[in-house]
This record gives sequence, C-alpha cells and structure tokens, in this order.
Amino acid sequence: MQNPNILLVYTGGTIGMIKDADTGALRAFDFDSILTRIPEIRLLDCNIETISFEEPIDSSNMNPKFWADIAQIVEVNYQSFDGFVILHGSDTMSYSASALSFLLENLEKPVIFTGSQLPIGDLRTDAKENLITSIQMASLQQDGLPVIREVGLYFEYKLYRGNRTTKINAEHFEAFESFNYPNLAESGVHLNINKEYLWRSKSTNQLVVRTNMNTNVGILKLFPGISKAFVETILNSETLEGLILETYGAGNATTEKWFVELLKKAISKGLHIVNVSQCAGGSVNMGQYETSSELKSIGVISGKDITTEAAITKLMYLLGEKIPTSEFKKTFETSLRGELT
Ligand code: ASP
Repeated sequence: MQNPNILLVYTGGTIGMIKDADTGALRAFDFDSILTRIPEIRLLDCNIETISFEEPIDSSNMNPKFWADIAQIVEVNYQSFDGFVILHGSDTMSYSASALSFLLENLEKPVIFTGSQLPIGDLRTDAKENLITSIQMASLQQDGLPVIREVGLYFEYKLYRGNRTTKINAEHFEAFESFNYPNLAESGVHLNINKEYLWRSKSTNQLVVRTNMNTNVGILKLFPGISKAFVETILNSETLEGLILETYGAGNATTEKWFVELLKKAISKGLHIVNVSQCAGGSVNMGQYETSSELKSIGVISGKDITTEAAITKLMYLLGEKIPTSEFKKTFETSLRGELT
C-alpha cells in the first residue's frame, strides 16, 4: 500500500501567521516553509505537497471568487491526491466549508478545512494539533478508499461536517460547534471515527465543480420592533433574488398584517425567501405555531435545521445554477450534501 498523497492549500488566516517583530502585527509567512516550522509533519505516513494563495488573505476578505479558486485547486489536483487540507482563517471558515460542499458535487475524497486561534509561531499555538490531525483525517483509508468523502471542518479535537458548523467563540480554542449534527470524528488518544454519520453520496458520477455563485442575496434578522420602512427597503432592493429570513424559535415571526403582506408581495414578484431560525440548535417547523402558519401559506421556504452559513451559500449556489422557480423551494428543502435533516 502506498502512502496517501495529501495537498495542503493555504488560503490565509492566523494559522500561517507570525508576529512582525517591529510592529507586533500578525502577517502571513512564506507557507512553503511550513515543513521547517512544523517538522513533525514529516513523521506522518503520507506524502505532502503544499500550494498557497499568491496573496494569503484574512478570511474576512473571503468571497465567491476565492471559493471558486479553492474548488478549482481541488479539481485540478483531484486525480493526483487522496485528500485535501484547506488552511483558512476561522472567521468565515464555516461559510467557506458550506460553500465548497455545494460547489464540489459528487465529491469522493476528503476536503478538510482547518485553522487556528493562535499563530503557528506562538508557543501555545493550537495550530499544530489542528494541522497534524487534519492531515491524518484526510489520510484515512479503508479498502483503498478514503474514509471521509465530504467537506469537513477540523478544530480542537473534533471533526465536523463543514456545512453544519458555526463559529461560536473568538477566543476559546474550541471555536466551532455543530448544533444540529453529530461530530464526524473525535481525536483523543485514538482517532474515533463515527462512521454512521459520514456522508455517502448516492451518485457514482465523477466530480463536477460548479462555480457560478449568485450574490444577489441577503440576510434579514428579525427583532422585536423591526419597522415596516426597514423591511420594505430590504424587500424592494432592486437586485435582490434570494433572502434568508432569520426568525425566532421554530421559525416564528410577527403576525402583523403589513409584514406578511410585504413578504407575500415580494414572493409573488419572484423573490425566494428562506426561513432560518435565529436559534443555534433545533429546526424551523412552519405551522407549529400560529406565528409561522402564514409564512407557510404564502410560500416561504423552510430552512429546517440548516445554519445561516449553509443557507446563504446554498442560496447563492442554487441561484447560480438557475434552478427554475417552480423547483426552487423543493430543491432548497432537500438535503444536497447533508446540510439539513
Ligand atoms: N481574522 C482571522 C481570519 O479569519 C482569524 C483566524 O485566522 O482565525 O482570517
């Protein structure tokens, strides 16, 4: 058996940064020197190659153009590598992992996102463990096939399904959580893989990479006292084609007449509105309360237990794929990559 080939893709973020001695500010270091900085990587039973964004970015600058770049790196190297580890800033990592899960259709190899809270050069860094274990996860094989065949996110001893994650803490090493789906794996003395939760594609087709994301989308978070003028301005925004409506609890919203009428009018004009709960855990269930019955009857799409990160990227993806209006609701409410239950 040959050692697996793993491609490390450095996009930017704290993990690949060092402190500028003069200013104290964090800046990206030459990623090709990663093997010098973490010599332990050489001890892993795999062949590692690296590729870096020409100009590494802070992930606050992430956008669909960069998602397309990552997807294309995976596509171009798909036959030569057994697994991919994407080093990425943690701030928008859940968005990127969600986006990539949609862009990489029929993925049969691991694409593991990871990063760190402290730079790799820091004495107390979490970067080493995150990087080393991500590489191990991406290298796992059984009967000549990769064990993980989806986009994952590894952080602080846990592997999650990427499109189920949310960044929950800006300081703790445990920065991510998957509230509505169990961990895919845990790292302790042993790597413990929860095989029953891994994604298995029903299709036997080849990888297809789609990069047409449509960014004419938005997120509207409800709050008590939200004004008609504000909602009206958002819904009348000329370029808007899809909207995530962040509602309360199990998908509830104010029953004030003006609100429902505005949504109804927008939907009749072709706007796709998706109901996603502000709660981190649990699911939208329109019709459970009177406060969501009308949303259901006017044709609001149910996001079920999807995260906002997965919902907004799925919206961009489906609009980019020009899914016809007649099929849009059904397609959104269907799990495409395990992003909703
Ligand atoms: N601001 C950084 C980023 O997201 C934080 C990190 O790397 O975790 O790029």
